[in-house]
Amino acid sequence: MFSVNRRGFLQRAAGLLVAAGIGRAGGDGALPLEARAEAAPGAEPARLPIRPRAAALMAKKEEAAKSPPAEPWNELPIRALSLYSPFPQDVAAFCAFVRDALPKEGVNTLVVMFDYRCRFVSQPDLPGKKLLSLADVRTIAAACREAGVTLIPEMNLLAHQSEQIEIGPLLAKYPQLDESPDLNPPNPWRSGGEFDFYSKCLCPRHPDLFPIIGPMMDELIDACGASAFHVGLDEAWIVAHPQCPRCGGSDPAEVFAEYVTRLHTRLASKKCRMWMWSDRLIDANKTGLFAWQASRNNTHRAIDQIPKDIMICDWKYEDAPPTPSYFAVKGFDVLPSSCYNAGAALGQLEQVYLVRKNASRAFFSPTISSRMPGVFATTWMNAQDFIDTYYAKPGFQPTDNTKNTVDTFKRLFAEIRKNSSTPKAEKTA
Ligand SMILES: [Zn+2]
Repeated sequence: MFSVNRRGFLQRAAGLLVAAGIGRAGGDGALPLEARAEAAPGAEPARLPIRPRAAALMAKKEEAAKSPPAEPWNELPIRALSLYSPFPQDVAAFCAFVRDALPKEGVNTLVVMFDYRCRFVSQPDLPGKKLLSLADVRTIAAACREAGVTLIPEMNLLAHQSEQIEIGPLLAKYPQLDESPDLNPPNPWRSGGEFDFYSKCLCPRHPDLFPIIGPMMDELIDACGASAFHVGLDEAWIVAHPQCPRCGGSDPAEVFAEYVTRLHTRLASKKCRMWMWSDRLIDANKTGLFAWQASRNNTHRAIDQIPKDIMICDWKYEDAPPTPSYFAVKGFDVLPSSCYNAGAALGQLEQVYLVRKNASRAFFSPTISSRMPGVFATTWMNAQDFIDTYYAKPGFQPTDNTKNTVDTFKRLFAEIRKNSSTPKAEKTA
């Protein structure tokens, strides 16, 4: 199925030689390329002579021919939605939504932000109200299995340890894990924009951290029967805080990469693939993206220091910049992730299709094209509000943000179904 032939390859190689000042533009084609390369004094010594280069490419082509054919561009292997975990009284309605709506919409992956809102056996006195029992988590997992949906649990394992003036449950119980005890939420709360306090972060190098978070991760993985785990890591503005006795003075990219790698190792030991948000791996200064969407705190160089088999969830809610391609070229699988702007979500889907369509152009194309396996619709509101809005429950008044998020989800998945050639009933098989 691959269309490259030797003639086409040699023509392109000749073009490269011309571009490199070897041979001449509009050449007659009579002089063998190998001879032209050999006849070029002062040619770049680092470049392979044509014959070995051609042989290497042909060998790669033969190897590629043994691989399975490229995935069809319009059949997305991952079609994901995120929801917050429900309150205990809403578990039944949550499960009914999973069974009814997700197969119809074509969702095959559900990321649930359980965070610290569970009654963990390993942390029985973690503060919080309306906590889910692990039996509730298992009930949700059973509904997902019934619906043919892969369930991925999520926890915030770096930032989001405070919300406005409120300190989150983990730091409330274990204040020693605070990366910046000297920085506290402004009270009364005011938003300081992208250069001021945002939310508390954990100290990734604190010796107590893994003994505390590790067992909680394991409990969620076991209750969900999960083969992947989302560790969060978004919007972490306080990394390698100068006053932290363990991290201060270190390179923030190194501290971040070290933590990512440690989480990855732990998840690998549970046979779980790691998912994480993208923003700390993108340079905000170069891209003009805000401090939430990209790093202004020098963590972005970690992109070259972390394992490549992490699934990157590249959240962009207002527009659709080409950042997913950046991750794909770096060697990561990536899911463009939308929220409340349908135009941006459809723009991200278009990018995924564009990259996936390229898979059939040349024998070497599937490598990058296969790194965009789908899209991820995120929602950041009470799950029951999302569900009530989805069903247009009489009497329920959603906020504009909720309405836009539901609308974005519906339009994104309608477009995916429109482009898919798989009968609907088979989509969640
Ligand atoms: Zn620290």
